[in-house]
Amino acid sequence: MLDLDKRSITYLPGVGPKKAEILRKEAGIFSYEDLLFYFPYKYVDRSRFYKISEISGNMPYIQLKGRILYFDTLGEGRSKRLVAKFTDGTGTIDLVWFKGLNYVKEKYRLNTEYIVFGKPTEFGHAYNIAHPDIDSLDRAEQVAKGLTPFYNTSEKMKRAFLNSRAIQDLQYTLLSGLNWNLPETLSPDVLNRIHMMPMAEAIRNIHFPESAGKLRDARIRLKFDELFFIQLNLLRTAEIRKSKLKGILFPTVGYYFNTFYKDYLPFELTNAQKRVVREIRADMGSGRQMNRLLQGDVGSGKTLVGLLAMLLAIDNHCQACLMAPTEILATQHYATIRELLGDMDVKVALLTGSTKKRERDRILPAIANGEIQIVIGTHALIEETVVFAALGLAIIDEQHRFGVEQRSRLWTKNPQVPHVLVMTATPIPRTLAMTLYGDLDVSVIDELPPGRKSVLTLHRYDNKKALLYDFLRKEIRKGRQVYVVYPLIEGNEKLDYKDLEAGFETFKEVFPEYRVCMVHGRMKASEKEEEMRKFVSGEAQILMATTVIEVGVNVPNASVMVIESAERFGLSQLHQLRGRVGRGAEQSYCILVSSYKLSEDTRKRLEIMVNSSNGFEIAEADLRLRGHGDLEGTRQSGEGIDLKIADLAADGQILQFARDVARDILDEDPDLLSEQHRILNERLKILFSKKVNWGMIS
Ligand code: ADP
Ligand code: MG
Repeated sequence: MLDLDKRSITYLPGVGPKKAEILRKEAGIFSYEDLLFYFPYKYVDRSRFYKISEISGNMPYIQLKGRILYFDTLGEGRSKRLVAKFTDGTGTIDLVWFKGLNYVKEKYRLNTEYIVFGKPTEFGHAYNIAHPDIDSLDRAEQVAKGLTPFYNTSEKMKRAFLNSRAIQDLQYTLLSGLNWNLPETLSPDVLNRIHMMPMAEAIRNIHFPESAGKLRDARIRLKFDELFFIQLNLLRTAEIRKSKLKGILFPTVGYYFNTFYKDYLPFELTNAQKRVVREIRADMGSGRQMNRLLQGDVGSGKTLVGLLAMLLAIDNHCQACLMAPTEILATQHYATIRELLGDMDVKVALLTGSTKKRERDRILPAIANGEIQIVIGTHALIEETVVFAALGLAIIDEQHRFGVEQRSRLWTKNPQVPHVLVMTATPIPRTLAMTLYGDLDVSVIDELPPGRKSVLTLHRYDNKKALLYDFLRKEIRKGRQVYVVYPLIEGNEKLDYKDLEAGFETFKEVFPEYRVCMVHGRMKASEKEEEMRKFVSGEAQILMATTVIEVGVNVPNASVMVIESAERFGLSQLHQLRGRVGRGAEQSYCILVSSYKLSEDTRKRLEIMVNSSNGFEIAEADLRLRGHGDLEGTRQSGEGIDLKIADLAADGQILQFARDVARDILDEDPDLLSEQHRILNERLKILFSKKVNWGMIS
């Protein structure tokens, strides 16, 4: 074995400690392997040479063959530059450097044939190429024929002379040092089945494509590889859980479930809810540990399903917990569940980061001795100090997705592993779900409770505010309430709060006859509560907020959702917000306010919102338009899905194939023990070493 993953990038010729530090920090390149898997983001065709006489306005990168006639240093101070007059016999062009002047002058000789590569810019009546790549003829033979790779580099990397070209050189050094040979990552049976390029050839061609066709094949192989190992890891984890972990058996449907269902449930369950409850019951009665994802659009009634599952746990002398991503949501869940349970004798507690010490001192022992049956809270639930007497069911309401690892931490709290139900309000595209939650069984609530009116969505520009205010006034006169939401973007909080506060002042001026309240993440919990209370009670007609609250509140009388700077929200987030209205009997509205100047993509995104109310459709569109890296939640999700080459929007087929192959391999050899599968095991260890072991916790 070459152990490329264990060989530090520091020792690659041309790197050294300083550059290694930058590569680690800026590009996550620690080892030889990391470098090889640092793929180009584009290629430029260098199969053709241009003549200087052919150069015209607005050309892409081109390549010229010729020689330098002379060097000249021009300008002073910051505009000091080195110019090389370059000719190929058809004309001359200036090559210009603003940095590394002496180095360049030393390195290239006059009247020697070079290949020059760069983007010509028009300057006065002539063209020049700034900071071109220059190769001697023999070197060009090796690296500059055909398609040339371009690598992402940060400013810091460029300053340390690690520009795209330098990365290309490092790849070249590394690959030629390895004799252009690399170990395979897949076992012979997988290779036989998939009919794809060997790994060595794929890596060679991704960096130095022999042809467009080979590059395409290399990309397919590498995408497959990436997705295959993710799936193999997920499926094996699920396998280990299923075979090694005994689930707590919940055979009884008893007093709590039945009493609630018969006497307290305020409405008939939808058919979808009934089906999902059956699926959950079957899991819990199977003797295997449940790991189920419950997907359902906003307002589809997941909370109720969660509560029924918790009552089943209590019927079987276990405790249950429900974990929400924010304090407000946890508090809201707590209130909802208290209300649903009415005077039923179930002990429910709320535990969040801001639970007072005295309250905490009361709750924690009662959780530990089993007196408290249901605990609702935030991340505070997975702190060391929280010990359950018998946790039988953990529900995660995952507006912001917890990663696989965070989910697993809940398990260690208990002598026996609890059943886990993940509820997600944001519909997730199939491919993303397969990758984020591929280890879970899936239930879907695909039906809304009866009587919901669809929300009318409109897109308005912010230079027509007066019309918007008129409309709001009309609705408020009818007795309705209005949400106004401002974006809150990480890293930009200061400005965003200013926007919100300015908006708040404006609204107070525009609507002197009504009460306007405001909620944001910088307020004290008690202030927030007071403001929310005003809105919920109907004292205030307008609630202005940042997304912090994710408007997890349920106010059926609020029928208008105004979203300011809507262009700055993700589609799924917009959909989520829209779900907060349309809960009462009245016609509801969602008004997306944006500036007039919008990019084509943004315009399309807002159009989708106006035209579709289907959460899955919207999520798919979001994935297509923004890519998974930008999708909400995926970045925060502990482990994230940091894909190097596969694209969940475009590579659904490869993903499905990868999952099928992984499934078949595991069916045959669940522990990957056979001689030929050893290689897969090794690879899993390299890729998921931090994550491999948690599946064994039991
Ligand atoms: P979700 O969490 O899926 O977004 P909720 O559980 O908050 O949805 O439910 C949204 C609203 O619908 C709540 O007010 C809830 O009481 C109500 N609801 C849930 N199930 C039903 C049902 N079967 N019939 C009528 N209303 C329902
Ligand atoms: Mg919910």
